Amino acid sequence: MNPNPELVAQSKQFEKQVIELAPDVYGAIGFAASNVYMLIGDDGLIIIDSTETTKAAENIFAEFRKVTKKPVKTIIYTHSHRDHISGASVFAENNNPEIIASDNFESDLVAIDSVHPKPGMALMARTKRQFGMGLSFPAERVSVGVGPGDRPMEGMGAGYMEPTVLIKEQRSSLSRYGIDLELIKAPGETPDHIVVWYSARKMLFCGDNFYSSFPMLYAIRGTAYRDFNAWVDSLELLIEFQAETLAPGHTMPVTGEDKIKEYLGDYRDAIKSLVAQTVDGMNRQLGPDELAHSVKLPVGLAEKPYLKEFYGKVAWSVRAYFAGTLGWFDGNATNLARLSPKQRALNTIALAGGADALLEAANKAASESQHQWALELVDHLIAADEESHAAKMLKVSSLRAMADLEINAAGRNYYLLSAQEIEQSLT
Ligand SMILES: [Zn+2]
Repeated sequence: MNPNPELVAQSKQFEKQVIELAPDVYGAIGFAASNVYMLIGDDGLIIIDSTETTKAAENIFAEFRKVTKKPVKTIIYTHSHRDHISGASVFAENNNPEIIASDNFESDLVAIDSVHPKPGMALMARTKRQFGMGLSFPAERVSVGVGPGDRPMEGMGAGYMEPTVLIKEQRSSLSRYGIDLELIKAPGETPDHIVVWYSARKMLFCGDNFYSSFPMLYAIRGTAYRDFNAWVDSLELLIEFQAETLAPGHTMPVTGEDKIKEYLGDYRDAIKSLVAQTVDGMNRQLGPDELAHSVKLPVGLAEKPYLKEFYGKVAWSVRAYFAGTLGWFDGNATNLARLSPKQRALNTIALAGGADALLEAANKAASESQHQWALELVDHLIAADEESHAAKMLKVSSLRAMADLEINAAGRNYYLLSAQEIEQSLT
C-alpha cells in the first residue's frame, strides 16, 4: 500500500492533544473522529460535543480531569451526527446534566422506522466502507479525512443521551456558571446545527460547518440532499462574529481574526462556485456524469489546504446537487429505460468478442494504469457471471490501485473495504 502523500500529511490536523485555547477553555483534538471542548465555569463545566465512542470520551475526560474536578452540568450537541453525541454519558457521570440541542435535532442513532421501510442495512454497510471499519492502520486506513485512522471503537454509539433542552429561537443566550454564551441555529452539514459563540473569549464553536477539508456536501455512506445554499448562508453568518478563535468539530482550531475571515470566506466561495458552475451546466442540459468531470474549484481556492478534498469531494457534491434539485434523471431520453446491468453486460461481452476478449481488454487497461476503465469493464463480466473469478481478482487489484491514488479518505476507505469484501467472498 502506498497511500496518497497529501492525505498522509493531512493527519497533522488531528494529532492527539489537549489544547488550552483560552483561559478556562480546552479542546481535545485527535482522540476520536471529532473534537470535544470544555468550558470551565465557577461551579460547573460545559462540554461541547462528545465523540462517537464511550472509550474515546473516557480518554478525553481523563485528560480534562487533570485540569479540573468540577462536575459537568451542561452538554451541548452541535448537531446530531453520531460522532458528536455518543460519549455524553461518560461526561455526565452521575450529575444529570442538561443536554442542549436544536429543536430540529434528529439523532442518526434513532432506531430504524418500524412503520415505513428505510434502507438501514445499506446505510450500515456503506458507513463501514466510508470509515474503513475493518481496515488495518496505518497501511490501509490512513484517516477518515477529518479525524484519525487509529481511534478506539469500543462503546460505539453507547453513551448517547437524549437532549433535555431544545433550542427554538434562531439566536438565544445561555448563561451558566458565570459563562455567557449565544447559541445560533446555522444549518450546514446537517439542518439541525447550532453554533456556540463565547463573546468574552471571541471564540466560535462552529460544529461541522467548517473543518480543514473541502466540505462533505455529500457523504458516500448515503445521505439525503444537504442544502448547499443554507450552508453558504450560515458561513456568511459565522464571518460576522469576527471570531479570534474558530473551534471546529473536526481538525485543528484556527486562531487570528483575519485568518478565520479568510478561511470561512473561501469556504463559502468554494460552495458558491460549485453551485454556480453546476447550475450553469444543468441549464446547458449537461448531465451529472459530464458535470462531475467538468466542474472544478477556481485555482485560487483549490490550492488552499483547507479546501483540499480529504473528506468532501467536488465531483460527488456536483452529483448530489444535481440529484437534490433535478432528481435522478439526467435529461437524456436514452436513460429513461436503461437496460438491466446484466443485459447491458451480455450485449457488451458479445460486442467485445466474448468474455475472454473483454477480460483481456480489462487486464490491458489495468496494466496501462487505466484503473477506472478496468473496473468498468470487469463489472460487465461480474454482472453477466462470466469469467467472474478472474474479473473479481482484477477488480480487487484495481480498487486498491484507485485507493492509493485517492486524496479523499472516504474514497480510499471505500475502495479498500470493497476490495476486502470481494476478496473474502472468493475464499
Ligand atoms: Zn462530525
